[in-house]
Amino acid sequence: MYTPAQSRQYQLDMKAREAAGKPLPTLSASDMVIIEKRMEEMKRQMDAVIKAQFKVEVTFGKARSNKQPFQGAISIWLSGSKLSGDGDEKVYECNRCEALVHPRAIEGGYAVCHQCGWQGGCPDLVGERFYKLTEQNWAVAIYKAYRRVGGDADIYLKYHPSDIREANKMEVRRGMGGDAIYKAREARRPLMYSLERIIKDTGAGADILGRFEALVKA
Ligand SMILES: [Zn+2]
Repeated sequence: MYTPAQSRQYQLDMKAREAAGKPLPTLSASDMVIIEKRMEEMKRQMDAVIKAQFKVEVTFGKARSNKQPFQGAISIWLSGSKLSGDGDEKVYECNRCEALVHPRAIEGGYAVCHQCGWQGGCPDLVGERFYKLTEQNWAVAIYKAYRRVGGDADIYLKYHPSDIREANKMEVRRGMGGDAIYKAREARRPLMYSLERIIKDTGAGADILGRFEALVKA
């Protein structure tokens, strides 16, 4: 097996041979087997999708603006696909110490906070946080939620459905084709910023807060 440095050196040697007009060595059968194995391994690594354990769900209210602060909520979910393949499970927050209360710590609607020991029913837990923020501060709030789950989350952005209702009414009024409502619906589809994408972007040097801000403004 070649190291990357050896591989580079080999390629330089081959280029030098080619430039000098010398014949290039042909690959032996055993070399071919090694190369094929390496290519299979690379393909496996590329196919291995990064699965986030959590989902940070952001829902914006209808008065979304790029100038004024606007309302919305952030909630955290345990991603179903990670475990049993069932639906997502809600991650609550202790209303006394603000620690996250994992679905594992809830049984029959009864929860125990692992941090402060608070015990009680789910309705007494915090399910989502409500905010009224500017786009820039929404990015910060999303970042904080993302950090709370150790950066192991996909980010989902949802919009208030009234935009579609408005488009629908308009559609009926104008008696137009289905184009306008289709466009409105497409534009309101939840945006997803996957952990895999986040890792790729930040690995390429992107500032994560800047990426979240771009998501909010998208
Ligand atoms: Zn607590």
